Amino acid sequence: MNIAVIGAGPAGLSFASKYGDADVFEEHKEVGLPRHCTGLVSGSAARRVGIPNSLILNQYRELTVTDLEGRRIYFKMRDSVLLVDRPGLEQWLAEGVRKLYLGKRVVNISKNYIYTSDGSKHGPYDYIVLAEGSARRFARAYGHVVRLPGLQVDVKSSIDIHGIIVVYNQKLSKAYFSWIVELDKGVFRVGLADVCCTVEKLNKLVKLINGQPIDKPFGGGVLAGPPLKRLITGRVTLVGDAAGFVKPLSGGGITLAIYSSQMAAKAIARGTPTLYEDDTLLLRLRLRTAFLAFRILYGWRFVERAIHLLNGGEYVAVDYDDHIKTLLAAALTDPRSIRVVKELLRYLASNRNIFHLF
Ligand SMILES: Cc1cc2nc3c(=O)[nH]c(=O)nc-3n(C[C@H](O)[C@H](O)[C@H](O)COP(=O)(O)OP(=O)(O)OC[C@H]3O[C@@H](n4cnc5c(N)ncnc54)[C@H](O)[C@@H]3O)c2cc1C
Repeated sequence: MNIAVIGAGPAGLSFASKYGDADVFEEHKEVGLPRHCTGLVSGSAARRVGIPNSLILNQYRELTVTDLEGRRIYFKMRDSVLLVDRPGLEQWLAEGVRKLYLGKRVVNISKNYIYTSDGSKHGPYDYIVLAEGSARRFARAYGHVVRLPGLQVDVKSSIDIHGIIVVYNQKLSKAYFSWIVELDKGVFRVGLADVCCTVEKLNKLVKLINGQPIDKPFGGGVLAGPPLKRLITGRVTLVGDAAGFVKPLSGGGITLAIYSSQMAAKAIARGTPTLYEDDTLLLRLRLRTAFLAFRILYGWRFVERAIHLLNGGEYVAVDYDDHIKTLLAAALTDPRSIRVVKELLRYLASNRNIFHLF
């Protein structure tokens, strides 16, 4: 079968290396660049999708959730969180791909042919795999996924904080959150995603921690989900960010991009593409539930309330990149939480229409 893959990120490359024989088209001239992602993945998910230890730059066991205005909750993580060499990951995945066409942006798909920005026509293809990431130029025709601009920069700072710091502060991000990741002693990756004004807000965050940028800012679209209900339409299959495979509460999608692509490649190679939808159904239901939580809890600003309530507490983090689940679990083990739970139930009762999102 002839297959074209649009995009050489973790999703497109994983698909092609698992399937074995596909044409991969990538608009940039180098795999893995320009950078856009922080590179954090949970240890268990990294092991599940086979990310090798040689690509791990750092690992963390501490997570602090704070408003950077004096309140904070401290978590010890059950499983370590890993910082992955993101360009290195793509270069490693690309080693298993035979036909990779760099510097070729796909500008049109018509019937079973694709057209690239250099004016050439490729095909015919039996399947076209959309692995174009959060840009979703073609994928948007198959369903909506919430997208926020994200921006980050590496800085030097003498601030005395360690591990991963998640910041909930309306002045820095109204719609999502900000992050500070300790890369090395005195070196941090700081970033945020929000509906607007990311440059100004990033400058504010850098100033707040007395940071000195050591590199250019980088970023891209952070997706919050939900995953699409249909992953296959005719000859077109969607994987990774293009299909909305992200954790809604953190925008994390590296391991889900690899996993969804491996499932899609396996199903197509067996000649039963619909297996891809069946095999990812439970995962997509879980992600849709998390998306519902994202709409309810961000709308209600649950995290700010929890930070006020649990200020100074120390807990075990159940899931590092699901900050709300982690905070909820902390809240439920602390008697101070009863007021928050009552208010949450009242909020749900008066906003029942939110459940149509599910
Ligand atoms: C600021 C930021 C921080 C993030 N931090 C994390 C994190 O810490 N942990 C985590 O798990 N996730 C994180 N993510 C999300 C993560 O980067 C994505 O979920 C992941 O990259 C998805 O992989 P993908 O292959 O689907 O898409 P991408 O990695 O975006 O790859 C898509 C590729 O397709 C190419 N492309 C697009 N359109 C075309 C076209 N028309 N023709 C040819 N090529 C095309 C692009 O150039 C790109 O190389 C972050 C995202 C952002 C923006």
